[in-house]
Amino acid sequence: MGLLISVSGIRGVVGEGLTPEVACRFGVAFGGWTGGPVAVGRDTRPTGEMLEMAAISGLLSAGSDVVRLGVIPTPTVLCFVRWEGLSGGAVITASHNPISWNGLKLVSPEGRFLTAGEGEEVLKRYREGPSRGSWEDVGQVAQRRDAADLHIEKVLSSELVDPEAIKERGFKVALDAVDGAGSEAGRKLLERLGCEVVPVHCRPDGRFPRGPEPVPENLGELERAVREHGADVGFGLDPDADRLSLVSEEGRAVGEEYTLALAVRFVLGKEPGPVAVNLSTSRMVEDVAGEFGVQVYRAPVGEVNVLMEMLRLRAPIGGEGNGGVILPEVNYGRDSLVGMTLILQYLAEADEPLSRLVARLPRYVMRKATYRRPGLDREAAMERVRSHFGGEDLDLRDGVRIVRDRAWVHIRPSNTEPLIRVVAEAEVTADRLIDEVMGILEEDDG
Ligand code: MG
Repeated sequence: MGLLISVSGIRGVVGEGLTPEVACRFGVAFGGWTGGPVAVGRDTRPTGEMLEMAAISGLLSAGSDVVRLGVIPTPTVLCFVRWEGLSGGAVITASHNPISWNGLKLVSPEGRFLTAGEGEEVLKRYREGPSRGSWEDVGQVAQRRDAADLHIEKVLSSELVDPEAIKERGFKVALDAVDGAGSEAGRKLLERLGCEVVPVHCRPDGRFPRGPEPVPENLGELERAVREHGADVGFGLDPDADRLSLVSEEGRAVGEEYTLALAVRFVLGKEPGPVAVNLSTSRMVEDVAGEFGVQVYRAPVGEVNVLMEMLRLRAPIGGEGNGGVILPEVNYGRDSLVGMTLILQYLAEADEPLSRLVARLPRYVMRKATYRRPGLDREAAMERVRSHFGGEDLDLRDGVRIVRDRAWVHIRPSNTEPLIRVVAEAEVTADRLIDEVMGILEEDDG
């Protein structure tokens, strides 16, 4: 119990399912799979160092050299693997899960998360047991303390970004890094852009002083800091700093769905092209793409699914509505440093406050619900949904997604928990779609 092993890595409650033994064995499996040097980084969770040591032991025993990057954002590991030409990466993080959790995510030689097929190959090695070399084959460890600096330079060298133009504006920015891995890197980036930083929860001790997800109900202190200090914008991160949420200069958390919609509008204004997002992302992105006459493609939920679709389309921008901005020119994954920089560049060029940029986006109502019952038969429940909506416009690539005019609802079994997720969006209220689906799920279910 308390351990989830899947094609996207391992996650679990430390001390229950997730032990150093598991992390070590996973390290051996991954080291054997990549066959070359691996970068290892971690978020600020207090259990991170123990698991990092165990994973490193496994990697070394499989013959991989290891480059330790220390406490850094998840996107920094992706960026480092790609631009320093390593054979892979491992990130010790459980992202927005509670503090008792931790996990290990694996990075491909290209600098993206493993696809399901690649993850399956590593899992096979994990299950079959370690294949280790002799004493002469054991790998070496090196340390790099400049990974965040490299990442920041890479972001600022994007053709879309003019750091001098941002500096000239002298923005005041409140940063809430939830005492996570973005605490130092985020602050460094903002200072490099000439911003006056108001830190809120930027002590990287990993004790998460608020709910770890950067959703409006967790950003009250950031809202207050923006108001008290008269900041131009507030940035809220999750513990491993891949997701970004915005607070307007009025001190209002605008909702994480706006981050990607604004980033897409800014980037398409410079470089029109197709956009890829997941099936649960707000249709604001479709309206923005419509302004530029380009198409939005939807991929199954899972960061790497969106990324692979973006690479196929050569999309200049894409990501996830949960605050995950992907700019493939810089990084092959969700990146809050990219997100913060694009938003600041947008503000610098637009010469309008954030609240005005937000107000010019179409307004929708999005609701998220979960269906959780003891002994839930998820397959049977999903079948009830499919047959109920049978006559409609259905997308069945990842659960069921139904589109009705400008409204949609996406119903999918969670990959990581025994429940069904329901997300709906409509122009006025999404309540009716949620109620309809909840009614169907309740049928014949005790
Ligand atoms: Mg995260």
